[in-house]
Amino acid sequence: METLANIPVILTKGAEWFASIGTEKSKGTKVFALTGKINNSGLIEVPMGTTLREIIFDIGGGIRGGKKFKGVQTGGPSGGIIVEKDLDTPISYETLVALGSMMGSGGMIVMDEDDCVVDVSKFYMEFCVDESCGKCAPCRIGTNQMQAILSKISKGKGEEADLDRLERIGKAMTKASLCMLGGSAANPTMGTLRHFRDEYMEHIRDHKCRAGKCKDLVVYSIDPEKCIGCGLCARKCPVPCITGEKKQPHVIDVLRCIKCGECFKACKFGAVLVR
Ligand code: SF4
Ligand code: SF4
Ligand code: SF4
Repeated sequence: METLANIPVILTKGAEWFASIGTEKSKGTKVFALTGKINNSGLIEVPMGTTLREIIFDIGGGIRGGKKFKGVQTGGPSGGIIVEKDLDTPISYETLVALGSMMGSGGMIVMDEDDCVVDVSKFYMEFCVDESCGKCAPCRIGTNQMQAILSKISKGKGEEADLDRLERIGKAMTKASLCMLGGSAANPTMGTLRHFRDEYMEHIRDHKCRAGKCKDLVVYSIDPEKCIGCGLCARKCPVPCITGEKKQPHVIDVLRCIKCGECFKACKFGAVLVR
C-alpha cells in the first residue's frame, strides 16, 4: 500500500524530487505505526533521516504519564530494541540494521520503565514459534528452545548459563535459517540481552521482575500507611481476595491472589505495592 501510494506522487513530481528527500542511500519518506507507551500514537510519515528522538518526543509527544523511556522496538516482532543512547541516529534502512534492528513492517513500539525485557522477548518469541512453518530445523527447533528458556527465566527458574544458551541458539538461527522469519526471530532477545543483561540476571539471581510483569515473580500487597480504605481495589478484584473495613487499611490474601494487577491499576493513592 505504501509503495502504491508513493507512485502517483513520484510520477507527478519526478524521481529527482523524491530522491532529494531522505538520506544518501535511503530515499524518500517512510510510514511508521507509532504505538506503545507514547502520548500520540498513530500512523506517521517522516522523511528518511529523521531521528528516533524527533519521532518519539516531538511527533509522539513523549512517554505517557511522564514515565522513563526504556526502548523502542522497530520492525515488528522480528526487529530489535533501540535504547536511549541511540535515539539521535538518523533513521534509514542501513542505520536500523547497524543498531541490531530493521525497518521491517514499519512498526515502532515504544516501551517505558514498566515494561519487562524478558516478558517482551518471550512475547515476540511466542509469535515466531506460531509463525514458523517448520521447514527448516534451525528455526523450527531454535524458536521453541528460545521460547522455553525465556519462559523458564520469567518464572524465576533460569540459570546464568541460559543467557549464553540463548545467544548461541540465536546466532545459529540467524545464520542457518532458510528464510528471514528464522533469520530475524532472535533479534528481540539478542537486543534485550545486549542492552539489559542486568535485568535478565535479576530474574535469575534475585527472582525479581522490576517491572512487575512476570507474574510468577510478583507479589501484591497493600501499604497500610498509604491505604485510606476507599475499597475501590476490593471492588475491582476479580477473585475477590481483598478485605477491609471502610476507611481502614485493606489487606490482600496472597494465597488467593491471581496476580491480575487490577488493584494496582485501581488504587489512586499508590497504596498497592508490587514487588
Ligand atoms: S526459517 Fe522460514 S523456512 Fe525455516 S522454518 Fe522458519 S519460517 Fe519455515
Ligand atoms: S484502592 Fe488503594 S486506598 Fe483504596 S482500599 Fe485499595 S489500597 Fe486502599
Ligand atoms: S492482583 Fe488481582 S487478584 Fe490479586 S489482589 Fe489485586 S486485583 Fe485481586
